[in-house]
Amino acid sequence: MPANVNGYAAHSPKDDLVPFQFDRRDPRPDDVSIEILYCGVCHSDLHTVRNDWGWTVYPVVPGHEIIGRVIGLGSAVSRFKIGDTVGVGCLVDSCQECDSCHHGHEQYCPAFVPTYGGKDRHDGSSTRGGYSEKIVVSDKFVLKVPEGMDLKGAAPLLCAGITTYSPLRHWNVGEGDKVAVVGLGGLGHMALKLAKAMGAEVSLFTRSPGKEADARRLGADHIVLSTKEDQMASVAGKFNLIVDTVPYAHDLNPYVPTLAVDGTLVLVGYLGELTPSLNSMPMVLQRKAVAGSLIGGIQETQEMLDFCGAHGITADVEMIKIRDINQAYERMLKSDVKYRFVIDMASLKS
Ligand SMILES: [Zn+2]
Ligand SMILES: [Zn+2]
Repeated sequence: MPANVNGYAAHSPKDDLVPFQFDRRDPRPDDVSIEILYCGVCHSDLHTVRNDWGWTVYPVVPGHEIIGRVIGLGSAVSRFKIGDTVGVGCLVDSCQECDSCHHGHEQYCPAFVPTYGGKDRHDGSSTRGGYSEKIVVSDKFVLKVPEGMDLKGAAPLLCAGITTYSPLRHWNVGEGDKVAVVGLGGLGHMALKLAKAMGAEVSLFTRSPGKEADARRLGADHIVLSTKEDQMASVAGKFNLIVDTVPYAHDLNPYVPTLAVDGTLVLVGYLGELTPSLNSMPMVLQRKAVAGSLIGGIQETQEMLDFCGAHGITADVEMIKIRDINQAYERMLKSDVKYRFVIDMASLKS
């Protein structure tokens, strides 16, 4: 196969991302061919590049917060036309037959195909993500970007946005509900904006007093310093839902007592063992739950984009050139970004 697309790839866990040429297929009848304009930089990109989860296949071209323009269509595609502004998130295919697929929860399909680092279900080729100039995706997995949306800030909605929107919807957050967000990063800042727009009274748990002004600007009504016992005690039994966006192992025990009866703490940022172990007492005594949630289905992702369009919501982003991606990873590890890096893909050409 001839290499027809420029991108950036990592070739081993220890190497920087470097320029990489590879092939994208010609559109199949149900495919949409997309010129990539912007791609957000997600923590999962970094985890995958460094093989933190042990499943990376190299070379890997990361990127699953993709905004682009339609430049080609398969013969059977009628939902899109050339020039449409579209998005692609974390999934590019699924089995279409299992219960999860039937319910529009493709993210829970055992055979879902991730946008990068997966295997195409038809030809077995490796899927490669948005750190590249072009992508070809089955039209079922292509999202419509609402008219007038800022496209740079829209890119992170495709992962950070849906990752926080889906649990807010699943647990029926609405007017007057009390929602707390743990952690103010790429996911956390989206959770504040979305929960506020859904009508909730929103609190931010943080360890850093310096984040207060920003948190309020993003939608927090209250700030709770999780390092202060008196502040934690003052919110005991308060929250209907806590969205925990922290991407590393941390102690959940201080948070569970702040849930109301029947409240849920949902993990969206961390994969792995909970340490220290979780005390069941507050859960059992007041029917509180600790749960997890993964991105969202395609229909729900479209709903999220439309919701964001209607409420004027996009991510707060810092634009970078693709050659600066390795420094961006180092800064991301130090949480030194407000609140998401987005790659301007025009920089691939210059
Ligand atoms: Zn992501
Ligand atoms: Zn399925």
